[in-house]
Amino acid sequence: MSGAMAQTATSAASENWRDQGVLDLSKSPYARLRSVPVHAVSLQDGFWSRRRRTNVDDSIPTMRLALEEHGRMDNFRRLSGRSQAARRGRIASDSDVYKWLEGACFVLQSQENPDLRGQVEEIVTIIKGAQEPGGYLNTYYVDDHIAERMTPVAQETGHELYCMGHMLQGAIAYYRTTGSRELIGVGQSFLDKFLIPAYGPENTKRPIVSGHPEIEMSLVELYRTTGERRYLDLAGYILQGDPRITMTPEQISNLYCGIPFTTRTQLEGAHAVRALYACCGATDYYLETGDPAYLKTLELLSADLHDRQMYITGGVGAHSQGESFGDDYELPNARAYCESCGAIASMMWNWRLLAATGDARFTDMMERALYNGVNSGMSLDGKTYCYRNPLAYDPSWDTGDRHTPKGQLRNAWYDTTCCPPNLERTFASLPGYFYSTSKEGLYIHLYDNSDLNWRLESGNSIRLRQTTRYPWNGDIRIAVTPATPEVFTVFVRIPGWSGNSSVKVNGVPVKGVRAGTYLPIARQWSANDVIEIGLDMKPQMIRANQAVAEDTGRVAFQRGPVVYCMEGPDQTRQDSKSMAAYSIRESGETTSRFEADLLDGVVVLTHSADLHEPGESLYERALPGEDVASSTSVELMPYYSWANRAKLPMQVWIPLDHSNGSRSVARGSEPTAEPLPSNSAGE
Ligand SMILES: [Zn+2]
Repeated sequence: MSGAMAQTATSAASENWRDQGVLDLSKSPYARLRSVPVHAVSLQDGFWSRRRRTNVDDSIPTMRLALEEHGRMDNFRRLSGRSQAARRGRIASDSDVYKWLEGACFVLQSQENPDLRGQVEEIVTIIKGAQEPGGYLNTYYVDDHIAERMTPVAQETGHELYCMGHMLQGAIAYYRTTGSRELIGVGQSFLDKFLIPAYGPENTKRPIVSGHPEIEMSLVELYRTTGERRYLDLAGYILQGDPRITMTPEQISNLYCGIPFTTRTQLEGAHAVRALYACCGATDYYLETGDPAYLKTLELLSADLHDRQMYITGGVGAHSQGESFGDDYELPNARAYCESCGAIASMMWNWRLLAATGDARFTDMMERALYNGVNSGMSLDGKTYCYRNPLAYDPSWDTGDRHTPKGQLRNAWYDTTCCPPNLERTFASLPGYFYSTSKEGLYIHLYDNSDLNWRLESGNSIRLRQTTRYPWNGDIRIAVTPATPEVFTVFVRIPGWSGNSSVKVNGVPVKGVRAGTYLPIARQWSANDVIEIGLDMKPQMIRANQAVAEDTGRVAFQRGPVVYCMEGPDQTRQDSKSMAAYSIRESGETTSRFEADLLDGVVVLTHSADLHEPGESLYERALPGEDVASSTSVELMPYYSWANRAKLPMQVWIPLDHSNGSRSVARGSEPTAEPLPSNSAGE
């Protein structure tokens, strides 16, 4: 690009800094959908507003103090002589600060907050102060570690470019909050002065491997933000892998980089967060280039995730060892890794695939991760976090692992504290995931009590008001108010789990409602047109594919987007042995009730069950009719709310009672349910 052209691209980009959302897809040639800015959607009193308030009032402030207390800020200050403290934290710890910064910026995009603004400005100053004149920026590879910079080993496992990727994302969020390119300039200086002159595909330069993918998606976003093509090309080169670097088959599988992305066929064995961050970067690259080989690979990997590798909670990563995907259908419950960052990565990836395709199956996966495997990662008070999110738990089995101390599943701090600020930035950016625009009109992805104040791609201003108690109630009323009447399409999402849905416009039913699709409603929209959506909130009993050995003979429950679990505090018998002796009556009824004072307000499910009397011997002969069981019921709570009370056993997959004759659950059988009273889900 010529200097004049680059100038034009930059100045054009600089005019619309407030107009961009989580991603800037405004010029992406292969994006079917465009982002809506975070500030355009205000969450009103409802499910996510409570989480958002906790995040702003408690999580982000306490994490700021924790980052200070654990030396993460001093790591930067010492490089400009403003601290004498020794460096603390693991090699990737700069990224914790960058993720916090990004989250704080998303908060400021929604609301003014002078204290937070001051903290953001302070962090921007200390980051700038830590940069070397040659552009280099990383607080670990200094002093005795200078010689390790970008060595092959450091590239593979040292998280140098991973940290820079998070720095760029924080810088872009700061730009979209303030209009200041100051921090983007710091990132560009690293790339243009340090990295690109010495590293790249040319024979005169040394090769790059991303090691822990993350830089790819941030380079594409930097390209979108600056218009500078070299950043997109660099992302493409890294995604392609450099043949000059040799890696072992295990590294290629686990690190998910180093070979052409388009030759990937599966996720098995991959470090879950690495693999899905690579998929995010590859989707971003596709959105800009339209390379069909990328789309083909992304579809293949998405099907692998959906059909063989994803937990019902949207969590990913079966193995604690290596934090990796397991074999196909290997989905252990108690040993599940399901790192919070993995569910977040899945949400981020599905958001990009949705932008590329407009296909509602990606929204379903995104929503599943958001309400369950992501939401479980933060405690209800917003002050402690899960690194792992297992689907079964018993305090007596909890041995801890590399990151999580024994018996302490939720912690305020981790030595590798990747998940807490990742959760914070995700919840802070959530308003940006509710809607998209396209040249046809407006897409509605998520439901909650909220207001949209934005514009169509025609330039016409539009307001939407959603009134709902979703996810506790399936009735959603949406008032659509364009500034001037206009013919366009509203794409209404019908979730895949909603078997029986209805949509009306101004009281008149709309035809063609199908689960797992967007219902296009093309008409002339005028002020105060009203869409009424009715979604199917009957509790559903779910079984897993027979190939998932751990779930054989078990069922899970889901109501709307919320996956349920059975946790000790709610059962009459709470000890480990008794918890294992409950079984769900296949023919039983599931009833729902809203409990305003429990776990910040939840719909509780109750289902009839048998409680078996555990015998004395380890093994005994199974004889028909000799199993002693008493009739009881189990109480089921949303999975995301578990581990917020006494530390007691929990299970998502519960044994199904076989004593009533049939050993099988018919696939697609209609569960019975009691309708939720319409006024039962108030805050
Ligand atoms: Zn993490």
